[in-house]
Amino acid sequence: METALECIQPTADPRRATEGPRRVPTRSENVYPAAMERDGHTTIEDRLRRTRQRYTAGRRQLAEVLAGAGRPLAIPELRAAGVDQSQSSVYRNLAILEQCGVVRRLASSDDTARFELAEDLTGHHHHLVCSDCGTIEDIALSPAVESALAAAVDEARSRHDFSADAHRFELVGSCADCA
Ligand SMILES: [Zn+2]
Ligand SMILES: [Zn+2]
Repeated sequence: METALECIQPTADPRRATEGPRRVPTRSENVYPAAMERDGHTTIEDRLRRTRQRYTAGRRQLAEVLAGAGRPLAIPELRAAGVDQSQSSVYRNLAILEQCGVVRRLASSDDTARFELAEDLTGHHHHLVCSDCGTIEDIALSPAVESALAAAVDEARSRHDFSADAHRFELVGSCADCA
């Protein structure tokens, strides 16, 4: 991912998920690079196969909706975005995708989990978490901020003898709808 905070790409309006008939976000709204188009599905299939799981139509549908959403989605938002599986299938498929390292579950401020594709499938990014409505948006930080974070990781490694292989950074506050 590239560029600075002011270059954050527009992401889906959280209210839009409940408007209109089952609207699937379009590719042009996607903040992610074309990873999913290139070989994302093959990667996902390989990951599932490692634990003897199949890349079923339902799991593929979840991966596609998550790839197109451009932000982490809660289960009702997944359904509003076009996931037409029973609630229990959605839970089961998400659990399997999570186990296989395809999907990451995010805790939010409202006790409702959000789901996104694993970062190695979509690109490194960070989150804005609304402490009022629980919505999570993706943001890309500038290269300068990323290198400052990398330096902090290095310092922690030497100071605390902790071997970090990733970092997470999120801003908590009020989204534009709740402010
Ligand atoms: Zn909010
Ligand atoms: Zn970062």
